[in-house]
Amino acid sequence: MEGTVAVVGGGVVGCFIAYRLAAMGVSITLIEQEGPGAGATGNSAGNIQPASGDDDAYKIALGAESLALWRNQLPRIKEAAGEIDFLEQDVRYFYAATNDQEEEDVRRILRDVTAAGLKAEWVDGAAARQMEHRLSPSITGGMLHTDCIQMDPKLFMAAFANAAEAAGVTFQRKNQAAGLTVTGGRIRGVKLQDTSTLECSSVVLATGAWTLKAVSDWLGYDLPVEPFGLQKLHLGLGTADPLHCAVRWNGVNIVCRRDGLVHAGSRFDPAGFDAQPSAESEQWLLEQVAAILPGFQPSGVENIAAFAASTPARIPLIGQLPGIDGIYLAVPSTDGFLMAAVLAEMTANLMVNGAIHHLMDRSPLAQAKAR
Ligand SMILES: Cc1cc2nc3c(=O)[nH]c(=O)nc-3n(C[C@H](O)[C@H](O)[C@H](O)COP(=O)(O)OP(=O)(O)OC[C@H]3O[C@@H](n4cnc5c(N)ncnc54)[C@H](O)[C@@H]3O)c2cc1C
Repeated sequence: MEGTVAVVGGGVVGCFIAYRLAAMGVSITLIEQEGPGAGATGNSAGNIQPASGDDDAYKIALGAESLALWRNQLPRIKEAAGEIDFLEQDVRYFYAATNDQEEEDVRRILRDVTAAGLKAEWVDGAAARQMEHRLSPSITGGMLHTDCIQMDPKLFMAAFANAAEAAGVTFQRKNQAAGLTVTGGRIRGVKLQDTSTLECSSVVLATGAWTLKAVSDWLGYDLPVEPFGLQKLHLGLGTADPLHCAVRWNGVNIVCRRDGLVHAGSRFDPAGFDAQPSAESEQWLLEQVAAILPGFQPSGVENIAAFAASTPARIPLIGQLPGIDGIYLAVPSTDGFLMAAVLAEMTANLMVNGAIHHLMDRSPLAQAKAR
């Protein structure tokens, strides 16, 4: 590709795209208004977990591909990142069911997960409690999903920024993109808050929850993406005995990190950019933990709120924006940590080789039009 590509947004998606394009020999400048991972990414649970929500077979297949790409890239990222240990671990997730309806739902996920080539099996309640003695006696069975990775997202982003810089990415930290220069139907540059313009041949908007505002204010497009509040808890383990599996139940993931902190989340709260830790959400999350893991007594609670982009049916906005040459979007929904690797591969291959990934066809971006 000729000229510089500007990537706006230094979350996991923007960094992954910049890193992959730089590895393909493209000149990249990444513009981030705060620091790498400052948005949803750094506040996430760091689960790379296909089927982390109410996902259909398409989404689970996309997630499975992303997991495989993560596994492929992680050794290189680690090597380039230097000393930072981002507490990566393979985790087995137990999707618990406590009644017939939940069993039916989990068995449907199991079918899609195994059809996508991921490792998972059905285990009954007694076997689950043998694996993790703090699980509830009300559990009748569930899916043990053993194809998941988890890491500390803040530490990972510090490491990933090092790896991206080593691959040739130029970072503009603490600089905000304030607009785009478009002439003759194509992108020419990114206007920056410091009043300079970064000339570029293409731009990738990896602006997460800020995307609707950016494309609306700068380009006059309305896109189906909204900021969505999510709340999570960090709980003290209170014992030397770590949880022997992660647990998913009633939409809540509970995972014991390598440093012993237990993540429990997330509670969705569609409150736009006003996401605040609330006592009510904390109480609700603690109730879910107590119901499914009654043998676990948290020794302390930290309540964290942030917002991520949300899209219809959690389908990512990915591809070229119709109507203006050289503008690309890569905006996941509320599972963007997982999806970052596949979105980066799709974007880099589209930009460098013109290749359209076979799972890109459901992106709502194809129908986007200026107002
Ligand atoms: C509590 C919580 C738990 C979660 N847990 C998980 C999980 O376990 N697994 C999972 O897959 N997903 C999880 N998610 C969702 C996940 O965090 C997001 O989907 C993902 O991080 C999105 O990455 P991103 O790079 O698209 O967006 P972001 O990380 O939000 O990055 C966008 C970046 O763009 C920058 N930016 C925006 N506008 C501009 C501008 N004009 N100029 C310059 N910079 C700009 C922002 O500062 C920000 O850093 C969770 C989210 C939350 C909040």
